[in-house]
Amino acid sequence: MLEPGLDKIWQEPFILDLFGLLLRGDRTVLRALHQEFIRSAREGVPVNRLAGIVQRHSGLEIRQSLRTAEQVMGYVLSKHRWMRQMEGGATHKKWVCGMTCPILGHGQAQEDTAREPVPVNGPFVVNGVKLMFPRDFESGHMEECIFCDCLALGCRLDS
Ligand SMILES: [Zn+2]
Repeated sequence: MLEPGLDKIWQEPFILDLFGLLLRGDRTVLRALHQEFIRSAREGVPVNRLAGIVQRHSGLEIRQSLRTAEQVMGYVLSKHRWMRQMEGGATHKKWVCGMTCPILGHGQAQEDTAREPVPVNGPFVVNGVKLMFPRDFESGHMEECIFCDCLALGCRLDS
């Protein structure tokens, strides 16, 4: 059983939109996929098995299916991490560039926020666009999210 915060993110309508952004396929297929993902997430199914689910519903080859499963999982975990930071009393957050993140500018975001952390309930500004957390697909900026493996750290700054 998933903790409530994580379970709630999996059920958000946006997850369906995210599958739509990442995959071709009609709404019925995407909805079935989403439902199966919710069930599997509750059972703690690992990402490589989620890839199998994507493949079954989309007909994509396994590597693309794995990539899709990773993107969706990455979004969910990063959002959850951000919510936990807010609940945990963080006042600010810092961007930490991932080891394999290929996106130019994410290293700069790490430098900028190490110097000056941003308020936890406000956006990061990365390459001139606003993201609430790394891989924030909901921001509408796919190009800042695809293949990103950055994360954010919460911190508490006394004022
Ligand atoms: Zn990144």
